[in-house]
Amino acid sequence: MTYDEILTKYEPVIGLETHVELGTRTKMFCGCKTDFGAEPNTQVCPVCLALPGALPVANRAGIEATIRIGLALNCDIAEWCRMARKNYFYPDMPKNFQTSQYDEPLCTEGYVDVTVDGKEYRIGIERVHLEEDTGKTLHVGGATGRIHGATESLVDYNRAGIPLVEIVTKPVPGLGTLAPEIAKAYVAELRDIVRSLGVSDVRMEQGSMRCDVNTSLNLPGEEWGTRTETKNVNSLRSVERAVRSEIIRQAGILDEGGKIFQETRHFQETTGDTRPGRSKETATDYRYFPEPDLVPIAPDPAWVATLRDSLPEKPSSKRARLRLDWGISEIDMQSVANAGAVELIEETIAAGASPAGARKWWMGELARRANEQDVDLAAVGATPAQVAALQKLVDAGKLNDKLARNVLEGVVAGEGDPADVMIKRGLEVVNDTGALTAAVDEAIAANPDIAAKIRDGKVAAAGALVGAVMKTTRGQADAKTVRDLILSRLGVS
Ligand SMILES: [Zn+2]
Repeated sequence: MTYDEILTKYEPVIGLETHVELGTRTKMFCGCKTDFGAEPNTQVCPVCLALPGALPVANRAGIEATIRIGLALNCDIAEWCRMARKNYFYPDMPKNFQTSQYDEPLCTEGYVDVTVDGKEYRIGIERVHLEEDTGKTLHVGGATGRIHGATESLVDYNRAGIPLVEIVTKPVPGLGTLAPEIAKAYVAELRDIVRSLGVSDVRMEQGSMRCDVNTSLNLPGEEWGTRTETKNVNSLRSVERAVRSEIIRQAGILDEGGKIFQETRHFQETTGDTRPGRSKETATDYRYFPEPDLVPIAPDPAWVATLRDSLPEKPSSKRARLRLDWGISEIDMQSVANAGAVELIEETIAAGASPAGARKWWMGELARRANEQDVDLAAVGATPAQVAALQKLVDAGKLNDKLARNVLEGVVAGEGDPADVMIKRGLEVVNDTGALTAAVDEAIAANPDIAAKIRDGKVAAAGALVGAVMKTTRGQADAKTVRDLILSRLGVS
C-alpha cells in the first residue's frame, strides 16, 4: 500500500513529548555552571553528583522559565505542586533517580494553534513539567560509538542537573495524511514560542530541544491502537519523517494480521526509518513518589500575573505583522517561518537592507547552502549584518547578482565581511570606462559582421557583443553600461 492508501484504511493518532533544556546560568538544584562544551566533570558538586547528605535547593529562574512557557502555551499554572522522584538506574544519572514531576505538574491544559496548508489545527497541551537532565555516557574503543564493541565507557556529569522542561501534548487524532506535516509544524511553532521567551536557545541539532514522537494506527470506529514512541528526533525534518515512516511500518504489520508492541524506537537519520529500542516501561516501573528533600512549589498568583503580563508578542502575531510590513503572501511567510528565517530577515532589514533584498538572500542562496550542508539557516556562516552589507554593495552598483553570489560564498567560507571579500577576490564591478571601452573596442574588432548589423539599426544584435565583453571582464562589468557603450561606439545612440 502507498502512504495515501494506508490513510484511507487506518486513522493515525500522534502525540509529542518535547524536552527543552533551559538556558539558566546555573543548574536546577545546585549552583554549578551550565556552560556548554566545558571540560568533562568540571561543572559538578556534591549535590549534582548525589554525594551522601547533599541537599538540593530549587533554582527560582528554572521555575520562572517553566511558568512562562506554560503561560505562553495557554496553560493553567498550579498554585501548589511538588517535585517527584522517578526511579530508574542509568550510569549517567548519578542519583539513580531523576528529580521530575509526576501527578502534580506545574502547568496543565494548554494549547498551540498551527497552520498547515492554510488550515488551522489546535494541538492540546496536556502538561508542562520541570525536571533535570542526566549526564552523558561516551562509549570508546568500538567502531560505532555505541556500547556494542566498546572497550570502555566514560561518563561526563556536567549536564546532570541542568533544568529540563517537558512539554506533552494530548493525543491528536483525526489528522489523516497531514499528520507528519502537522507534527512538524507543531514542533516548529513550539520552538518559536520558547525562543521568543528567551529561556532556551532551542537548538535541535545541539540537543537543547529534543522530541519524542508517539504514533499509533486504528481502523475507523475502533479503539486507538497500541502506540510506539520514537526517541530523540533531532530536527524538524526528522519529526515529519519519523511520523510518516512509523505509520507505514505499523500499517505493514497490521495488514498482515500482526500486533504492534508498546516500545521505544530510535529514529535513523540515514535511512529515515525507526529501529526497535527497549520495551517501554510503564509509570509503575518508575515507582514515583513525592521528593522529600524539596519544599513544594507554590507560586504567588500575583507573581504569575506579572509573568503573564510580561509575555512577549506571540510568534504567530509577529509573523502576521511582519508579513504586512514586508508585503508578502501568507504562503511566502509560511515558507520563511518553516525555514527558520523570520528573525534573520528581520535583523537584516534592521541592518539596512530592503525586505525584498533580505528575503532574497536568506530564502535563496543561503537556504540552498543550509540545505546542502544539513544545518540550520542561522548556522550557515553569514550574519544578518553581512547580508545587509552585501545587498548594499549590489544597490550601489558595485556588485551584480552573479558577483554578489561569489562574494557571499567567500563570506560563508569565513573570508570576512562582504566588502573585504569583494576586494580580496577582486570581484568589484568594472566601472572604469577606459578599461571597459578597450574591451568593447576589442569585441567590435573581433566581430565585424555583428558590428555592421548594429550600425544598420539591428540593435538587438548588440547582445552578442555584450556577451563577449562580459567574458573578457569575467562577468565583472555592468551589462547595461556595456550595452550603452557598444551602441555609442558604433554611433547608434
Ligand atoms: Zn552541582
